[in-house]
Amino acid sequence: MDKTSTDLRRRLLAWYDDNARTLPWRAPPHSGLRADPYRVWLSEVMLQQTTVPHATPYFLKFTRLWPTVRDLAAAEDGEVMAAWAGLGYYARARNLLKCARAVAQDHGGVFPDTEEELRALPGLGPYTAAAVAAIAFDRPANVVDGNVERVMARLYAVEAPLPGAKPELTRLAAALVSEMRPGDWAQALMDLGATVCRPKSPLCERCPVADICLARAGGSPETYPRKSAKAARPRRHGAAYVLTRGDEVALVRRPPKGLLGGMLALPTTDWSHEPIADAIAAAPVQAPWRPAGEIEHVFTHFALTLQVWRAEGEADGVIWTRRADLGGLPSVFLKAAKAAL
Ligand code: SF4
Repeated sequence: MDKTSTDLRRRLLAWYDDNARTLPWRAPPHSGLRADPYRVWLSEVMLQQTTVPHATPYFLKFTRLWPTVRDLAAAEDGEVMAAWAGLGYYARARNLLKCARAVAQDHGGVFPDTEEELRALPGLGPYTAAAVAAIAFDRPANVVDGNVERVMARLYAVEAPLPGAKPELTRLAAALVSEMRPGDWAQALMDLGATVCRPKSPLCERCPVADICLARAGGSPETYPRKSAKAARPRRHGAAYVLTRGDEVALVRRPPKGLLGGMLALPTTDWSHEPIADAIAAAPVQAPWRPAGEIEHVFTHFALTLQVWRAEGEADGVIWTRRADLGGLPSVFLKAAKAAL
């Protein structure tokens, strides 16, 4: 490691000692405590695509309901999916269970402690394996999330745009990993990205490595990482049906595979590229359907416009659920139910 890199590591670790975020899945630096791999893994899975404030209540709920990986492995699928509702990316919840069961059954309820073995667990990707190996087991793994990519792009003023620049940013981050405090190093970089080297308005005046940051020297650090022009997100259309029977609402369970697979849901049409021409004809049962407006929802790969229809009536093969219990629905259906009720 060259002199500048050594200096950068030393300063950033010293900054982390004083400024580490207090998070319920962490062990503070120099506390002599080691973070619980189950909690690190759970938090990392939850934090992919969502923020710390949004994920934290879910993390606390999960660890209250299932304090160990064995407890989670023994949980019913439906219970876990319901507890996950609102975090989105439901395939992740299914993978979470697969992984917990593999740890319980094949590893005696103890997470393996190397990046390679962690990667071999079902549903545990390279990023999560690196994060658990570094944070829970202090292994010199290269943990590169969006925060770390941004910090690398700025420190080294990387002109290549994302996503093509990812391998270069990963290589730059790898060159800074060392056997010395690798867990703290991973968290120091994440924390710098989350609290100081922020996406839109970096707080360079508070940054411990500002004088060696090339993007700052260039005068417009917020323009890094460079991005390729984005393709517009495609739009899909559908209709959702809110059938009530007194205080109850008719729900269905979505098929196990695919978007929102296995989740409780309102009955809907398929989501197609054209608006639904005759939503009443497409309704799951005959009833005096009345329009209740439209809602918009954005998924990773498309935006959805859902017409919402409501009626009072009867139906077979549905799951009648009290209005007060609709809180566990995925956000898109919760929005539709709110529009109708
Ligand atoms: Fe980020 Fe500014 Fe620090 Fe550079 S100086 S790493 S842009 S906060």
